[in-house]
Amino acid sequence: MECTVNPIFSSEAVTLLRADMGLWVFLGVVGLVIAVAFRTITRVQKARLDPEKKHGATSTDSEPAPAPERAAPSPAEEREEGRQNLSRKQLRKLRERDEARTKRGMEPETLGGAEKPEEIPAPVEVEADDGLLLPPGTTLNEGLGRTRADGFVGRLSKLFAGRTVDAALLDEIEGVLFTADIGVRTSEKLLEGLRKELTTKEQADAKRVWSYLREQATNILQPYDGTTPLNGLSAERSEPYVVLVIGVNGAGKTTTIGKLAHRLTAGGHKVLVGAGDTFRAAASEQLAVWAKRAGADFVEGSEGADPSSVLYDAVVQGQSQSMDVVLCDTAGRLHTNANLVEELRKVRWVIQKAQDGAPHEVLLVVDATNGQNAIQQARVFGEALEVTGVVLTKLDGTAKGGVVLGISDELHLPIRWVGVGERTEDLRPFDSKEFVDALFAGTESPAGP
Ligand code: GDP
Ligand code: MG
Repeated sequence: MECTVNPIFSSEAVTLLRADMGLWVFLGVVGLVIAVAFRTITRVQKARLDPEKKHGATSTDSEPAPAPERAAPSPAEEREEGRQNLSRKQLRKLRERDEARTKRGMEPETLGGAEKPEEIPAPVEVEADDGLLLPPGTTLNEGLGRTRADGFVGRLSKLFAGRTVDAALLDEIEGVLFTADIGVRTSEKLLEGLRKELTTKEQADAKRVWSYLREQATNILQPYDGTTPLNGLSAERSEPYVVLVIGVNGAGKTTTIGKLAHRLTAGGHKVLVGAGDTFRAAASEQLAVWAKRAGADFVEGSEGADPSSVLYDAVVQGQSQSMDVVLCDTAGRLHTNANLVEELRKVRWVIQKAQDGAPHEVLLVVDATNGQNAIQQARVFGEALEVTGVVLTKLDGTAKGGVVLGISDELHLPIRWVGVGERTEDLRPFDSKEFVDALFAGTESPAGP
């Protein structure tokens, strides 16, 4: 068989093919060299931009590259940095701690120290009438300023100014007294006295009319002097002295308890306050703040709890912890439609169950700005709850200070304390002489203040 050679595989073709292959191999080697060179250049550039790889570390290195060195921060910078890492709550706590340290005369220690609390001047302590060391609060004289200017005293002095007192003027005095806030019966009594006890000549003398009114005010108020039992309370008590504080909503019960707690702890007594106003959680929080400020112990129940049971617990705890005084707060409103007076009667009964003979004092708090209405409130509570004393609050904000006369004269209830402001020290033990002096201050001149 004849064998033919395919022209493609001829020797010429094979030579050509070999030359072609050599060219391709050469081109491949050149491409590889370029690719390696390019990769190396990019790596070097990348390493220059990335500081962490500066020291030759690669992404697979387990040891992190050391951080670039920086200057040591100053204490102020450290505090600022720490401050930014704290929550607001943490910051507040630290500040409070620092403030407490500063008050004790110590250096603030924490981050809060960067901002030193404002310098608060220490209160100037003076010896109060009852021997306690308290900052000087609003004086009774200041507290009765509005009653002297615009109340019955002020209106009478305007009436007297530049006139002699005659029969027509007596009618006008009658008008002032009846529309003033001293109560109808007390006004009648004062007028009757003016007509009957003073001669016609005396009635024409403004100075004499003032002195007569002053004498009568003293006669009304004096029988109750010196009867504020919380003042001068014996420190050696076998059982706590329990005070139940009652009154309508907003009268100033909680504030008065706070002020009393402060006075009592300042006098060295151990005090516990019971949060019997369970109508709102905020009422209990308000009392807790006062108690803390006064350094008194505090007993509360949950919102909506039975006030009687909270106060029962307070009195029992007061006994077991040898408290000198237990102050019981109550609500002026109720959750249910139950009658407030009935509810308070129950509270009173339960307190008695907790401790024989308690409550020793039932303090009715009335707001002087309510004028005649305050007398009416005192009548209702007084008849139902064996009230033993009255606290008249907010005398500083009203011209109706004459209401003191009506409460004492018509209801025969002793005024124990008067509130002349919102601060702790703005509660004064009632003193008839001081009160009358302040009420009629300036009336020594014929026209009055
Ligand atoms: P509560 O509902 O009877 O317990 O009344 P609070 O004690 O809560 O007082 C009601 C408001 O009366 C608060 O804003 C007190 O600061 C204010 N207050 C209480 N007593 C006095 C006072 O004697 N003078 C003045 N100006 N405000 C008072
Ligand atoms: Mg209250």
